[in-house]
Amino acid sequence: MATYEDVAFDFRSDTVTLPTPDMKAAMMEAEMGDDVYGEDPTVLALQDRIAAETGMEASLFFPTGSMANLVALMAQTEPGRQLYCGARGHVKLFELGSFASLAGLSQVDVPDTHGFLDLEQLQKVWAPEIYYMTQPGIVVVENTHNIGGGLIYPVEELVDLHRFTQEKGVPLHMDGARLWHAAVAQGRSLSTWTRHVESVMLSVSKGLGAPIGSVLAGSKAVIERALPLRKLLGGGMRQVGQLAAAALYALDHHLVLLARDHTRCQEVFGTIKNLPWLEAVAPQTNILIIHTERPEAGDLVAHLTERGLKTLAISPSTVRAVFHLNLTDEACERLADAIKEWGRTR
Ligand SMILES: *Cc1c(COP(=O)(O)O)cnc(C)c1O
Repeated sequence: MATYEDVAFDFRSDTVTLPTPDMKAAMMEAEMGDDVYGEDPTVLALQDRIAAETGMEASLFFPTGSMANLVALMAQTEPGRQLYCGARGHVKLFELGSFASLAGLSQVDVPDTHGFLDLEQLQKVWAPEIYYMTQPGIVVVENTHNIGGGLIYPVEELVDLHRFTQEKGVPLHMDGARLWHAAVAQGRSLSTWTRHVESVMLSVSKGLGAPIGSVLAGSKAVIERALPLRKLLGGGMRQVGQLAAAALYALDHHLVLLARDHTRCQEVFGTIKNLPWLEAVAPQTNILIIHTERPEAGDLVAHLTERGLKTLAISPSTVRAVFHLNLTDEACERLADAIKEWGRTR
């Protein structure tokens, strides 16, 4: 069992957070009903709220972001078509190929080095409209970009991309697992981005501190198709009002804390950015990506573990540290110091 003390030093992900006592109390109070019959009032309240905040017609609660992303694909395109997404995107790398095995799509890489899809590069690989060629089915963008280091999708890039996908008549889906982070970091509304996509997925279990849950928002037509698809995948849930209550609590009380995560991430970056034996990506939100000079990510992670700090090696030469609401100032200072120390001992 993880304790609050454990997660206070755990930088592996912002998913490791534990519900606070007050969040648990809010969960205990939740009104519930059978959500497969659409009768859970707390789930309905959450879905209405997310639809309103994203400016979408409707939304649907999911157990995971992966399932919501998959359903977004299945609801908006058909097997045999192509998925265009970032070469380092979550949908491509961390969802076990469900776009292929379950949605029946093939995947086309688009460079996403800076966290957004390069429109010129996308146009270069875009399949021509010829009946004997495999046709585009959907485009997926990620905001913030996880592996890129929590990078925020520039709105102007999204506008240009959406103009292109609209011309082509292909839906644009946003994997917005951390869209709230982008909104808080730039002091903008969710709709700043969501008005330029057909559907969006947001997670309440990433940094906001709810134990579980993601929401897919889109047009009424998309969400009506998504409902039976969620059931098909085993995601039809019953009395889950307690989980929706945790999500609502997180939005009311934890959203403001994201700014603190961003500040702490900046501070650690500030301490380590000039170290010659590593290259840290300047963070825009709560994810710090550190590239080591040689393939020694495992060594750095082990060094930090010895000092009671958990981080994640996401490639042989890349370490990720993610900032969340259960961390302490002490943990962040210790992380910065320990990274500096590693260089001297290695
Ligand atoms: C975490 C994450 C998801 C969804 O993950 P689940 O663990 O299935 O909830 C999707 N996209 C991004 C960018 C993520 O970081």
